[in-house]
Amino acid sequence: MKRISILLFLLSAFLIQGQNKALVGGTLIDGFGNDPIRNSVILIEGDKITKVGTTSTLEVPQGFEVISTEGMSVLPGLWDMHVHLMINGHSDYGYWDKTYPPLFEKVIMPSSAHQLLMAGVTSARDLGAPLEPSINVRDAINQGRIPGPTMYMSGPFIQKKPYPGTEDFRWGVNGAKDAREKVKKLAKAGVDCIKLIDQDEMTFEELAAVVDEAHKNNLKVVAHSHRPEEIRLGLKAGVDNFEHTGLSSAPRYPDDIIKMIAERTGQMNLGPLFWTPTIEGLYNYDYVVSNPEMLDNDSWHLDLPDSVITDIEQSIQHPGQLPYFQLTPSRKPTLKTKFTQLREAGVVMLIGTDSGIPMKFHSQSTWNELDIWVRVMGVKPLEAIKSATYWPSVFMGVDHEVGTITPGKKADIIAVKGDVLRYISLLQDVDMVMKHGKVVKNLK
Ligand SMILES: [Zn+2]
Repeated sequence: MKRISILLFLLSAFLIQGQNKALVGGTLIDGFGNDPIRNSVILIEGDKITKVGTTSTLEVPQGFEVISTEGMSVLPGLWDMHVHLMINGHSDYGYWDKTYPPLFEKVIMPSSAHQLLMAGVTSARDLGAPLEPSINVRDAINQGRIPGPTMYMSGPFIQKKPYPGTEDFRWGVNGAKDAREKVKKLAKAGVDCIKLIDQDEMTFEELAAVVDEAHKNNLKVVAHSHRPEEIRLGLKAGVDNFEHTGLSSAPRYPDDIIKMIAERTGQMNLGPLFWTPTIEGLYNYDYVVSNPEMLDNDSWHLDLPDSVITDIEQSIQHPGQLPYFQLTPSRKPTLKTKFTQLREAGVVMLIGTDSGIPMKFHSQSTWNELDIWVRVMGVKPLEAIKSATYWPSVFMGVDHEVGTITPGKKADIIAVKGDVLRYISLLQDVDMVMKHGKVVKNLK
């Protein structure tokens, strides 16, 4: 008996040791925005980061598997705070919503999730999808049954009236009582946040009821900001996070809105006001039209059946003719002004991409958003990375668990050859992805 327990003890010690890893030699970007650490050493035991140091301060203990990150940038796994797993680049929403719902849960959403993970995205927030598939896909990932980022799901949009044929993922509200009931139903099903759209079409009582009921259930509220009144009313009702740069081709945000935002961001007791500008798709549209070769990059084919790939490819044969983007050229010149106005009004910006919308593939969205922030919008690389790591974890209330490379946190870590602080676009080809201490994409 005794011998068996000793054997078991040795075996389990061996197994635990087998999981211990050391990432050694790379330049560490911690996610807080601090200066990078050269010649870094990160010790990982099981799914957690246990120690962080340098090759001269931290010795790798015996039994740790050493993974060399020499010549690489090492940073927390990225977050994408605005994805749509149920779509993947197809140009025609009406057709997609009629054709593919039977495949959402088992095929489309898992493949989107897998593609995000291979792009270095270890956590993502999905905003607007049918309830049951959302919860089931998230849980399947969390239980290790399918690969993907840790997902945070809103389930269906809450809005005044669903567009015809979208009732599965858009829930209408009729009166404040109904609004509360819809939010309660989502909370009970286990969603991670509430997504509002067209909130300016609701009565203020309905909107206030949605936000209040969400907050009572510890759920934050994320809202669209396409129209000025969506922002004004959203701010008044206490929305926590706005999406998109919005306001179509208007050259700038009106002064009263900027004043309201600045007043809100000054209220420390409410925490930061978050904003996800989702700027890349709009900014890069004309580039994609004149350089459609990037649509042929097969990274977005992963786990999709050939028939679906062909269907998507055919829908984007003429990128310059897609109805979805016809206003985009007139919006593009306004983006930098609006982006800058928001930053100067004190919002905390989050990296999010609207990944899945026409011509925007999960395998390519997140790095492109970072690239536009840094290269065009003038955001410092460390700050842009913080908006893709630390800040999203704060928004989701999990910053004690993930989001930075700090002892005690889950080992969600990516590594990329070269200096991402000099060339942020190196993130388009992430060399290693580790999620919860497991290497899910290996160094080549
Ligand atoms: Zn969206």
